[in-house]
Amino acid sequence: MLILSGKEVAAKVLAGVKTAVADLSERTGAQPALAVILVGEDPASQIYVRNKKRAADEVGIGTRDFLFPQGCSQAELLETIVGINRDASLHGVLLQLPIPKGMDEDQAVAAIAPEKDVDGLHPVNLGNLLGGKPGAVPCTPAGCVEILDHYGIPIEGADAVVVGRSRLVGKPLAQLLLARHATVTMCHSRTRDLAGHCRRADILCVAAGKAGMITGDMVKEGAVVIDVGVNRLPSGKLAGDVHFDSVAPRTRAITPVPGGVGPMTIAMLMRNTYLAAQRQLSR
Ligand code: NAP
Repeated sequence: MLILSGKEVAAKVLAGVKTAVADLSERTGAQPALAVILVGEDPASQIYVRNKKRAADEVGIGTRDFLFPQGCSQAELLETIVGINRDASLHGVLLQLPIPKGMDEDQAVAAIAPEKDVDGLHPVNLGNLLGGKPGAVPCTPAGCVEILDHYGIPIEGADAVVVGRSRLVGKPLAQLLLARHATVTMCHSRTRDLAGHCRRADILCVAAGKAGMITGDMVKEGAVVIDVGVNRLPSGKLAGDVHFDSVAPRTRAITPVPGGVGPMTIAMLMRNTYLAAQRQLSR
């Protein structure tokens, strides 16, 4: 059984982005830059934003903060996004989600210029993904496919099962696998016989947010398992959606939690930001 180290793959992606950013900056005289929008004071969001900014700094991508207090108006947020869209020195927009309850997240995401949508969540980018022409792709699903590719795991023709159908992870991941010619089954909370579906998977991807819900008896011998889940146990430890101890011995390869898909999300965000800057600066 092989441990699929997202940590290693992320380091490789980030090294590639760093070189590409340096080349682009030298060629164009402009530094790729990311607008970072944080609304409210959610501690988890503050940590995510800090980690993303640190990664940007390490690869040579500039960041500019747009911080809003809890209780700011939707209009203020939209006005800021429109201003960033017009600012040619900013190439990507990171709107840290979720934004506070009572604000319209869909409207805010849709206000971002599609070419600056480095999270790949704008309806135009999601539509391009559905159309089989992925542009900016949501970072976590893109990271899952990057791990499979890095370790040479064939996707074409594979029976892939995705557990979870969120806009952020499950749905785009299923589309990416479909675009790579896997036969994809999507499972969710109303799926009958989840175990039966999972047992048919050559590639099993789980993004449900339920610690340890996939157990050894639900996994085919020799399957590849990608565990997207990040759950905080009462003990304070992090756990995936896959019960690692019972599942891992049956698999050909599996991602650990932590150190699997988690580090890929930020790495793919950096790659998306570089690609957005490259497209805008090469026009
Ligand atoms: P989400 O929006 O809560 O969606 C969860 C999905 O799982 C839903 O589609 C839900 O089905 C399905 N589901 C829940 N319980 C299920 C069950 N018992 N059987 C089958 N399906 C079930 O969550 P998300 O944003 O996609 O995140 C999923 C997990 O990935 C979380 O643990 C999150 O922390 C983690 N995550 C990690 C990263 C990373 O960087 N590693 C990034 C994003 C998310 P319904 O649609 O029917 O409700």
